[in-house]
Parts: sequence; structure tokens; C-alpha cells
Amino acid sequence: MYPVTVFNPRKITKKEQKKLIRELKRYDLEWDNIEFSGSVSEKKLRKLSAYCDEKGLRLKIGNALGRRRTDYRRKFFSWNSPDIGSRYICVYCGRLLKKDKVVVDHLYPVGTASKSIEYQKKLKRHGIKNINDSRNLVASCNSCNRRKGTKSGIWIFLGRIGRHRGIWFLRYLLRAVIIAFGAYSFWQLAEVILI
Ligand SMILES: [Zn+2]
Repeated sequence: MYPVTVFNPRKITKKEQKKLIRELKRYDLEWDNIEFSGSVSEKKLRKLSAYCDEKGLRLKIGNALGRRRTDYRRKFFSWNSPDIGSRYICVYCGRLLKKDKVVVDHLYPVGTASKSIEYQKKLKRHGIKNINDSRNLVASCNSCNRRKGTKSGIWIFLGRIGRHRGIWFLRYLLRAVIIAFGAYSFWQLAEVILI
């Protein structure tokens, strides 16, 4: 069962409100003068979600994952030492960041995780019981964090890979090899042309 709350952001007439109360009773949701709340099965939740989309109602699925805590930034630094020297690596682009430039990012965004059952299942599969779990926190630069926003999919994939330092060493090494090879080829070519 999933504890849910439904909130109506629009102004409606008393008659419409009565109808809403009647219809949401079918999902075992009770009106408490502010919002509707109750517990529904997964099957019912899918129907309720479609109903809320259709009527423009806001649906929130309560969960044991918790809310964004205010001390997660401090926790992140107590759990993670810097990657290189005193710098942290942005898991998305590999930029090296001073501690004060690090944006601590929730790999699975808090907002998305609180609305989607699929997400909550995925998190559970990864053993993440709390949204502020160390496994869900990564270092990010400001621009990647803004670009990511509440997106998931590829960003989560990149974040999961990017948190392994070895990947960035490999990438830097590969880049150095490519540059060296390019310089060597250029030199060879220059020799052919000039001689
Ligand atoms: Zn970045």
C-alpha cells in the first residue's frame, strides 16, 4: 500500500468539490478540508494517477525515502574525501572543483523519487532506503547541476559511472594519448612536406 495525498490547486465551486469528494472516496481517500489522503494499492494508484492527471490534481505519493534533509551537504563531505589533492571531481563532466564550488547533487532527484513508484522500486533495488543516503549523493559542478535539474535517465547513468575516479583518469590519459598522437602525426607530415 502507498500512502498518498491529493491536492487541488484550482478554485472550484462547492458542487464540484462535493463531486470530487465523492469520486475520491472510490479510492478510499478522505477530505480533511485542505487535501485528500489515504492509502491505495499499486493497481489503484495507477488509476488514481491517471484520474489526477485528467482533473489537474496534484498527487503526492508518501514514501519511506524521506525528504531532502538540510544537513546532506555536511554529511556528503564527512563521507567523501577529496578525489585529487583537495579537489572533488564533478561526476558529470570531470571538472576538478574546490570544496566551496561543489554542488552536492541527489543522483535520483528528490522530487521525482517522491512522485514515481518506478523510482522508489529502483532505489530499493539499489539498497537506497533514504533519499539522502550516501549512495544517492554525488559531487557536481554548478553548470552540470543546473543542466541536470530534475532530469534522470542518462544523467543517472553518467553519475553512476562518473563517481569512479578511474574513469576520469582513463579519459584524461586517452585525451593525452590522442593529443600526443596528433602532434606526432603533424610533425611527420610537416617533415614530408618540408623535405
Ligand atoms: Zn560538471
